[in-house]
Amino acid sequence: MRVLLLEHPRNIGEENINDIANAPLSSCLFTGYIAGVLKEQNHHVDIIEGYLERRSYEEIYQMIKEFKPKVLGIHMVYQWKADVELYQLLTQVKEEGLVSYITAYGYYPTFAYEEIFRECSILDTIILGEPEMTFLRLVEKLEKHNTHHQLKGIAYREATNKLHIQHTEAFEDLDSIPFPERTAASLSIGEVNIMGSRGCYGNCTFCYINAFVGSGCSKWRGRSPENIVAEIDEVIAKTGMRSFYFTDPNFFGPGKQGQERALKLASLLKPRNIQFGIEARVNDIHDTTIKALVEAGLKHILIGLESGKEESLKRLNKMTTVEENEKALKILRNNGIKPNVGFIMFEPDSTIEDLRINYDFLKRNEILNSLDITVNVLYHHQIILQGTKSYKELKQQGRLKLSSLSTYEGSADYKNPQVARFAVIMREITNCIFGCYKTLWCNDIYSAAGMKEKYDQVNRMLINVFEETLALLEKGSVIDESYKLNTIQASKEYIYSKLS
Ligand code: SF4
Repeated sequence: MRVLLLEHPRNIGEENINDIANAPLSSCLFTGYIAGVLKEQNHHVDIIEGYLERRSYEEIYQMIKEFKPKVLGIHMVYQWKADVELYQLLTQVKEEGLVSYITAYGYYPTFAYEEIFRECSILDTIILGEPEMTFLRLVEKLEKHNTHHQLKGIAYREATNKLHIQHTEAFEDLDSIPFPERTAASLSIGEVNIMGSRGCYGNCTFCYINAFVGSGCSKWRGRSPENIVAEIDEVIAKTGMRSFYFTDPNFFGPGKQGQERALKLASLLKPRNIQFGIEARVNDIHDTTIKALVEAGLKHILIGLESGKEESLKRLNKMTTVEENEKALKILRNNGIKPNVGFIMFEPDSTIEDLRINYDFLKRNEILNSLDITVNVLYHHQIILQGTKSYKELKQQGRLKLSSLSTYEGSADYKNPQVARFAVIMREITNCIFGCYKTLWCNDIYSAAGMKEKYDQVNRMLINVFEETLALLEKGSVIDESYKLNTIQASKEYIYSKLS
């Protein structure tokens, strides 16, 4: 069967520039895996990289017209806005008979299928959860029976207009799936994304990695080290590229077995002369394993510290402690790794005391020494996404606020109005810095001579604003509207004078 897969164009407004990406990193291989699985069964598959190749909708329309697919699959991602252009394209190609069947997959449609069906009635189905095996079964069912009825793992409208939803089980045997297809565009980003495991044994209140797979699934599933290395060898042979990034939400499996698997993988990677990055929980950072991974080429790591306060870690159900956070930082630094960190400075229930404890934690652990990290940790609010425990709890408490556009991302008012105003100040200033970063990257002057000093000056300014505002709040002063506006304006002027 002829199947065309579309990564649609994405637009991120300035307002959301510092928010978590519109889809978890682990979703970036969905389309490649679907293509790999379908090709193995001799289906004719192609991929349109509408996002990476910056294709216009007119170009995408022409590409669909040329390929003449029987099935069009869309990796749909959340864009903080109504996807009018995408829905118009899908309606056009269906109404003109260029495509007979359209399905969507990804995190956003898995959780927000109701609103997507409402806005885009032309869609035949939405695939729920990990898409590749369900996509294959869908194509097989369409080929043999010309229907998707009774297939597990999809959502669709019945003839009565009622939504039919049926989840499927998590796929266990990751070694049995063919390697993902990689397009030239996906390789042009300078490193190769690779998936070594799926899911997570954690259960943080703000995370929907496990809910995505299916209700009740709280599970980490790993590929064997041998299978991962076989894929790496294939990539090196085909492309010569030796820089990899593991898209796993949690690189390490649980406990002793997880560490042993990582050690085995390190021993296989070491002779291959590659470099790679990973994302991990702090309780999995142990000296022996990190040392072995560094010797095998580990260069970058993102660890989810999330907070410097025990009660907040408990509230987030992180199942880690402040001591483990500090120990992980030390181990990584001792092994020559400068860790990137996930940190939630502002939660809906944050108090001024929480902010002080968080701030002292960041200073004590020397996390505020460079702007690229400071800008991420001195402001980050808790993102509240559909499918998470926080979303459900805030909804039950009547505190969840939804935009008129989507149920996918909610927000909640801060309990403390002074914390709320403080958060606005930090959000505006950090967004301004991210905007300047983007311009510097685009103009290729991000690492030009003299920039380091300017970054250091902006870093000091950002820390000062945080410190001064926090000190005012601790003294019992009220941050009023004029303090907020003046602080934001003065900070932005300073940032522009240094970074633009
Ligand atoms: S540790 Fe990371 S991946 Fe695992 S549940 Fe928490 S946030 Fe999600």
